[in-house]
Amino acid sequence: MVDLRSQYEKIKDEVNAGIQEVIDTTTFIKGGKVNDFQRNLESYLNVKHVIPVGNGTDALQIALMALGLKPGDEVITPTFTFIATAEVVALLGLTPVLVDVDFDTFNISVESVKKAITPKTKAIVPVHLFGQNADMEAILTLAKEHNLYVIEDACQSISSVYTFSDGSKVQSGCMGDIGCTSFFPSKNLGCFGDGGAIFTNNDELAVKMRAISNHGMVVRYHHDLVGVNSRLDSVQAAVLEVKLKHLDEYNTARNSTADFYDKVFFKIDKLIIPARSTKSTHVFHQYTLKLNGVNRSELQKYLTDKGIPAMIYYPVPLHLQKAYQDPRYQAGDFPVAEKLCECVLSLPMHTELSEEQLEYITKNVLEFIE
Ligand SMILES: *Cc1c(COP(=O)(O)O)cnc(C)c1O
Repeated sequence: MVDLRSQYEKIKDEVNAGIQEVIDTTTFIKGGKVNDFQRNLESYLNVKHVIPVGNGTDALQIALMALGLKPGDEVITPTFTFIATAEVVALLGLTPVLVDVDFDTFNISVESVKKAITPKTKAIVPVHLFGQNADMEAILTLAKEHNLYVIEDACQSISSVYTFSDGSKVQSGCMGDIGCTSFFPSKNLGCFGDGGAIFTNNDELAVKMRAISNHGMVVRYHHDLVGVNSRLDSVQAAVLEVKLKHLDEYNTARNSTADFYDKVFFKIDKLIIPARSTKSTHVFHQYTLKLNGVNRSELQKYLTDKGIPAMIYYPVPLHLQKAYQDPRYQAGDFPVAEKLCECVLSLPMHTELSEEQLEYITKNVLEFIE
């Protein structure tokens, strides 16, 4: 699904030099590289504060911890996403309120959010799934009306740009109160291990989240808040500093791959190509088809036998996961998410796919379909 080796080969000298520099200075935690990367990312995103943390899940957890919510407070999140989004809500003793998604964009349905708001609702966590921003203008309007926080899960969407109706353009993760991203190796901006970051334009929340990520400490050994230990290390920051410079060209490569797939598949009735929002650019973390009357497991096996990986993101919606069984939810409650779980199939998507590989992949998909 990804080819991290070929990508590395092209930036090897730069990356190795950065890592060597960290080793030479032996500042493995905090220090120059982390600060440099933080500042570079702040300016790339045009956001006031970037807080580097240990991973994307921690970013979401720290964001929620900073809001001062109480057990039983409700947090609205889509049922069609990676588990981390709801996991941290549950871990903190808050109540995840699941909602359905839009069939076309895979993203949280604003109509469903509207219906799910109660007096206990405190926050909405939209996920910009597969690399395209959710309908943020509508979500932010709704949040304002009901006095709710918005925490964006931008783990798959870093550098996707959303255009508001007044023409202003804002980076993914920088529209709500807080944005969270992951630098997991296969993410669009991935490091060589675990990593993540929090974005905010709110000075007060920034101070609080920085403290929470460092044992609740503002002044050394004085703990004003209950915190966690979640840091981006310098080796990862050195890798990310190099890769950030290439992020735009990586996005171009991903978009060319998506265009190639689209051109082959758009006329095939049995394949529904990913819808492109008019309000958001797409950074194609995944290229996800919806199959229409195709035996998915047979297609997947057919492709695997030809050496082509194809993955199901995600096979089970959150409300049907064993650990998240809840008398409030049953099968059938979120028909769109449930339908998507049955028909989605993601094809190889990364920055290094050659035209030859793409021809081979599409030819084999068509051979099975036709
Ligand atoms: C990857 C991902 C996360 C978690 O990130 P980690 O760095 O793996 O903890 C959370 N939400 C979404 C949507 C993701 O894709």
